Amino acid sequence: MPTYKALFVTQDAPASIQHFAADAFPSGEVLIRIAYSSLNYKDGLAVTGKPGVIRKYPMVPGIDLAGTVEESASPEFKPGDEVVVTGCGTSETMWGGYAQMCRLNAEYIVPLPKGLTLKQAMGVGTAGFTAMQCIMALEQHGLKPGGPQSNKDVVVTGAAGGVGSVAVAILARLGYKVVASSGRPELTDYLKSLGAAEILDRSVLSAPSKRPMESERWGGAVDTVGGDTLAGVIRTLAASCSVAACGLAGGGQLNTTVYPFILRGVNLLGINSVNVPNARRRAIWNRIVQDLPLALLDSMIEVHPLEQFSELGEAILAGRTRGRVVIDVNL
Ligand code: NDP
Repeated sequence: MPTYKALFVTQDAPASIQHFAADAFPSGEVLIRIAYSSLNYKDGLAVTGKPGVIRKYPMVPGIDLAGTVEESASPEFKPGDEVVVTGCGTSETMWGGYAQMCRLNAEYIVPLPKGLTLKQAMGVGTAGFTAMQCIMALEQHGLKPGGPQSNKDVVVTGAAGGVGSVAVAILARLGYKVVASSGRPELTDYLKSLGAAEILDRSVLSAPSKRPMESERWGGAVDTVGGDTLAGVIRTLAASCSVAACGLAGGGQLNTTVYPFILRGVNLLGINSVNVPNARRRAIWNRIVQDLPLALLDSMIEVHPLEQFSELGEAILAGRTRGRVVIDVNL
């Protein structure tokens, strides 16, 4: 009987690679043979035993996966279809992508967007999907090339990370002057190659200030860092402009005042990539294909085998990974 490799986590034992027969995997309408998964901040937490992601044990982590349908009880998919799943409860309550196979219901699955390979789709993964969600949220709140605030810069924090790298590349492609806030000056050339016009040391936005508002600099912002950095972004947003807040790489607390909201009318937009209906997921992927230059996506991707899960998990939590890490589950 064939067996499938999977990273397995129980409440009592740390993550380890094990082999299971197909019937050991939880049920679902669609059986997917996984080609690639990816590494996101949440995956770092799950594989290193940190709390906050896995809510049901035993668990196969990996919030993302891309592969080929082998069996389907849903009319939406048929054997041979190439498909993508990004964070939707996978690695939280449903077994995820750090395995050679997975069963999930059709509502979580989207067809591989035309023009992308399975590897590129995982180069995007939840991080890139979230970056696009952030940009679409900013657009819904008035950001547009040539718009009233288009003389202002757009800032991306945590710019050299996964969400940040994709956000920089898409915003630059859309024609904005993108300022990349980063703590890694050694990645200046990388960030400029993605389209950043300027690099801002991360200490500038996170510096403490007694003033509730400072000069209006940003026409929009994608914040992956949270904490003092997000407070700094809010103080420096231009009137009526918005920050899409999706992350907490620098901290989960937010100490700010109401002044920028009530005197400048700025908007704090919360982004959640998990609870997204299937039709909306497809719309977001369509925008990714349209607006993310594939050569830049390829330049962000590093491929690693699943066996390196532990060191990769530590690396992303320490902010040491650059761009996107794709996991080849079959290496
Ligand atoms: P990465 O680790 O790839 O990127 C995070 C980046 O943040 C790092 O590369 C680094 O950028 C910066 N950073 C790291 N540590 C610190 C620190 N202590 N202080 C300031 N900056 C820091 O993670 P992702 O891009 O995958 O995810 C970013 C955040 O977004 C995470 O908090 C993640 O949980 C969240 N997220 C949320 C989602 C949602 O649905 N809301 C979905 C996906 C991600 P640099 O070196 O350039 O400074």
